[in-house]
Amino acid sequence: MSQRSGIGYDSHRLVEGRPLILGGVEIPDAPRGLAGHSDADVLTHAVIDALLGAAGLGDIGQHFPDTDERWRDADSLELLRTACDKLRDAGHNPINVDATVACEEPKLGPFRDEMRTRLAQAAGLEASAVNVKFTTGERMGFVGRGEGMAALAIATVA
Ligand SMILES: [Zn+2]
Repeated sequence: MSQRSGIGYDSHRLVEGRPLILGGVEIPDAPRGLAGHSDADVLTHAVIDALLGAAGLGDIGQHFPDTDERWRDADSLELLRTACDKLRDAGHNPINVDATVACEEPKLGPFRDEMRTRLAQAAGLEASAVNVKFTTGERMGFVGRGEGMAALAIATVA
């Protein structure tokens, strides 16, 4: 069976008064969180777009429009679970995911394994098939100035 790959990219603004949720993990004591219609989990959104892309199923906005009240403050891991159901319905199985989160602060390394585990569970994968990396903006651009965060992902499906 042939394998296909897809990419995903997402960004969200950092604001006060919102929890910071990445890869389904709420980062404790984060001074600011990501703004968005759902829980604004930028990492999970990039992963969803990569998987949908690999399967040729469009993008996250088509499947979970931000004009739909159903997705207000939605748990993005639930969106990932639903997206993977759609993939399987279309005859595709996720193989692996690799992702990078661009974030100036806080330090996210201590939460890497929990993010991998949660993303993998939602996608029906082993944690070893989901890699999560972190980088900063080196104080450049919107990431470096702490205005927001971005995430990139690539996924392979068979
Ligand atoms: Zn998003």
